Amino acid sequence: MKFLKRINGRTAIIVAGGLLTAYLALILTVTNLGQSKLEDSQRQSLSLKIRNYTDNLSFFFDASGQNLANLAANQATTTYFSNLAAGMSVKYGLGSSLFNLEQTIGGFMHSSKIDNLPIYKRVRVIGLGGTPIIDTGAGILPPPPLLPLKEMEKERQRIEITQTPEGLLINLLHTIYHQNKPVAVLAAEVNNDVLIYQLSIQEHKSSKSCLSLITPLGGIPVWNTLDDANTGQHSHAKMEGDAQLIYLEKVVKQTPFKLISWYEPVNDQDIFTSTWFIAAISLLAVPVLAGLLYLMRVYNANLVLQTQVRVSAQQQKHLADKNALLSEEIDKRIASEAELAYLATHDDLTGLANRAAGMVALQHAIDGARISGTLVLVVFLDLDNFKQVNDTVGHPAGDELLVQTAGRLQQAMRKTDTLARFGGDEFMLIIPELRSQDAAKVIAHGILSLFDEPFTHDSQEFFVSTSIGMSLYPKDGDTPANLLKKADTALYRAKESGRNGYSFYDSNMNQDLQRKLALNVRLHQALSNDELDIHYQPILDLQTGQIVAAEALVRWTDRELGFISPAEFIPLAEKNGLIHRLGDMVLQKACRQAAQWQPISPLTIAINFSSVQFRHSEQLQQRILQVLAETGLSPDKLEMEVTESIFIEQDACLINSLNHLKSVGVKLSIDDFGTGYSALSYLQRFSFSKLKIDRSFVNGMTDNKADLSLVNAMLAMAKSLNLRVVAEGIEEQEQADYLAGKGCEYGQGYLFSRPLCAADFTRLLQARQSTPKQLPA
Ligand code: C2E
Ligand code: MG
Ligand code: MG
Repeated sequence: MKFLKRINGRTAIIVAGGLLTAYLALILTVTNLGQSKLEDSQRQSLSLKIRNYTDNLSFFFDASGQNLANLAANQATTTYFSNLAAGMSVKYGLGSSLFNLEQTIGGFMHSSKIDNLPIYKRVRVIGLGGTPIIDTGAGILPPPPLLPLKEMEKERQRIEITQTPEGLLINLLHTIYHQNKPVAVLAAEVNNDVLIYQLSIQEHKSSKSCLSLITPLGGIPVWNTLDDANTGQHSHAKMEGDAQLIYLEKVVKQTPFKLISWYEPVNDQDIFTSTWFIAAISLLAVPVLAGLLYLMRVYNANLVLQTQVRVSAQQQKHLADKNALLSEEIDKRIASEAELAYLATHDDLTGLANRAAGMVALQHAIDGARISGTLVLVVFLDLDNFKQVNDTVGHPAGDELLVQTAGRLQQAMRKTDTLARFGGDEFMLIIPELRSQDAAKVIAHGILSLFDEPFTHDSQEFFVSTSIGMSLYPKDGDTPANLLKKADTALYRAKESGRNGYSFYDSNMNQDLQRKLALNVRLHQALSNDELDIHYQPILDLQTGQIVAAEALVRWTDRELGFISPAEFIPLAEKNGLIHRLGDMVLQKACRQAAQWQPISPLTIAINFSSVQFRHSEQLQQRILQVLAETGLSPDKLEMEVTESIFIEQDACLINSLNHLKSVGVKLSIDDFGTGYSALSYLQRFSFSKLKIDRSFVNGMTDNKADLSLVNAMLAMAKSLNLRVVAEGIEEQEQADYLAGKGCEYGQGYLFSRPLCAADFTRLLQARQSTPKQLPA
C-alpha cells in the first residue's frame, strides 16, 4: 500500500500507457505470428489437396489407358484385324467382325462412366493411314496426328491434345497390334466434364479459390470463385499479380498436364484474424491512448495548478512573514522615530526642552507677543563655578546638580513659561506676556533665591549660585537668535560683575563685546610684533624697607586702543591660548632683566603664571629651567606667582613639576589669596614660600572690619603654616604700619612704588643703593 501511495497519478498514467502500448504490440505480434502460421498450415493442407487432385487425375489417365489397352487386345479387336489380315472380305466374315468390334466399342463407351457421366465423348479406330475404321461420333473429325511407326512401337499409348474451335480436345491414343505389328490406333476423346467433375467434386464450394488444368496447348478452367465474372488467362494474370493469394502448382504424373490453383488465405476470410480486424482493434487503442494523454494533460494541468497553489501558499506565507517583519520594523521605526523626535527636542539628562526646541518655543512666544503686543522675557542662566563642582566633586555630582537645578526652576515657573537646557550648565527660561521690566527684576530675584538652599549629593551639601542675563522682546530684538545673543551678553556682564547676580542687556554691552573681539585680534599682532612690555613693581621688606623682590607685570599699549589692563587681556589670552606665548615672553624678559639687576641688588623676580600655563606643566617646567640656564639667573632668584585655581585641575604631573622646580631652588607663592577657590588643604600638601593677600582685602581693611578680620585671620593662618606673607595693594602708610605690626613680612603697593619700566626700576635700585634703605614716610 505504501508503494502504491508513493506512485503519483502522473507515473500511473505513464505506466498504464506503456503497458497498453506493450499489450497492443504483443497482440499485433501474436496475431501476425498466428496469421503466418495459419497461412503456412493452409498452404500445407492445400498442397496436400492439390496433390490429391493430381494423383486422382493421374490414376484416371492410368486406369483409362489400361481400359483402352484391354479394348485393343480383346477378342473382337483381334478377330477383326486377323480377318483383315487374312484378307477376308466384308461380305464374308470381315463385315461381321467389324460389326462385332463396333458393338464391343459401343459397349465400352457405354460402360465407361463415372457417376453417370460418360468418360469418353467419341471413340475411334483409325487405320495407320488415317482412315477411320470405326467412329462412335457423328460428323467428320480429322484424325489425330499419328506417330511414325517406329515411335509408335516404342510408345504404345499416349495423350494427344488438339486445339479446336470448340475448345481443347484430349485424346487417349493406343496403338493396336496384330502379330506384333501396329495395324491401327484406338483414339478415345476424353469428356472434359469428367475431368472437371472429378477435380471439383471434393472442393468446398464456399472456398474462395481458382483451379485450372493446364495442358501444353492451354488451360481448362475447373472452377473460379475468386473472380466469378471472368475466367481464363486474363483472370490468371490478375491472380498472379495478387501477392495475397496462395498459389499452388502441381504436375499430373505421366501426363502432359499440370494443375494450377489460387486460394484466398483463410485468415483473410476470418473476420477475427483479418488485418482489418486487428487494425480496428489497434485503432481502438488510439482513443484509449488519447484518453490517457488527455488524463495526463489534465493531471499535468492539475499538477501545475497544485504547484501554483502550493507556490502561492508559500508566497502567501512568505508575504505574511514579511508583513509581520515589516510591521515589527515599522513599529520599531515609529518607536525609534518617536525616540529620535524626543531626543531631537529634549535634553537627555533633565528631560527639559533642548536648545533647538527652546529656540522654536521662543519663536512661538515672539509670534504670540507680536499679536498681543506684550513683552517676552528671555532669561539666560549659567551656574557659577560649575566646572569646579564637576572637577572637585565629580561628574555624577555635576549631573545631579543640573537635575536639581532644573527641578527648582520648573517649580518656580508658570505653565505658560518654557524652560530649556542649552547644554553644560546653561538654561534658558522664556517668559511670555511680561507686564514690565520691573516684573523681570522680581523674576530674576526669585530665580537667584532658588539657589539659597544648598544642593545635596551623597548626603553632602554644597552651595552653588547662578548668574542671569536677560533680554526683552521687542526692545532688544525680534528674533530668537538675536534675543538669545543679547541675553548671553548680559549674562557675561553678570559674571564679570561678581557672579550670583543678574543683568539686563543694554547696548553698551555690545560695545564691550566689540572691544573684546578687537582686543583678540590686536593681541595676536602685538605679540607677533613684540609690542608688549614689562613693568616691575618692587616688593619690600616691611621691617627694613629693603626691596627684596620685583613683580613682573606685563604692559600693553595699543596704537589705537591705548593702554589695556592685563586684568582685561590676560583672561582673553587664557581663552584664546595666547597665554603660552605671552607667558614665555614675560619669563624670558623678566629673567634676563633680573639677571642684569643681580650686581646692583640680589633681588628676586616674581613672575605671574596663569593656571592655563600649567596644563602642560612638564613642558613649562623644562622651559623655565632652560630660560634660567640661558639667562644665567639663579633658580632661587625666581619666584612663581600662581593662584589657587591651579589646584582645581591638579594632577600628579603638576605636583611633580612644581616639586622638581622647588628642588632646584625656585620659589612658589600664592597670589590673590582669599579671592578664589579656597580649599585650604592644598596649602598643607605643597609647601609654598609666600602667600600674597589680595589687594581687595588690604584696600578694605581700614574701612571694613570684615576685611580687617580676614586679613588678621590670613596672617595667623600663614604664621601657623610657616608661610611668609606679602600684602598687595598697600596704598596708605597706615596699612603698612598695621600689617608690619601684625608681623606681615612683605608689602607691595603704590605707597612704595607703582610698577615701573625696566629703566626706571634700575634707577630706583641704583638710588636705593646710594641712600639708606628705609620705608617711605
Ligand atoms: P597681581 O598679580 O595681583 O598684580 C598686582 C596688581 O596690583 C597689578 O595690577 C598692580 O599694578 C596692582 N597694584 C599694585 N599695587 C597696587 C596698589 O597700591 N593699588 C592698586 N589699586 N593696585 C595695585 P596689574 O598690573 O594691572 O595686573 C593685574 C593682574 O594681571 C595681576 O594681578 C596679575 O594677576 C595679572 N598679570 C599681570 N601681569 C601678568 C603676567 O605677566 N602674567 C600673568 N599671568 N598675569 C599677569
Ligand atoms: Mg601677582
Ligand atoms: Mg595679586
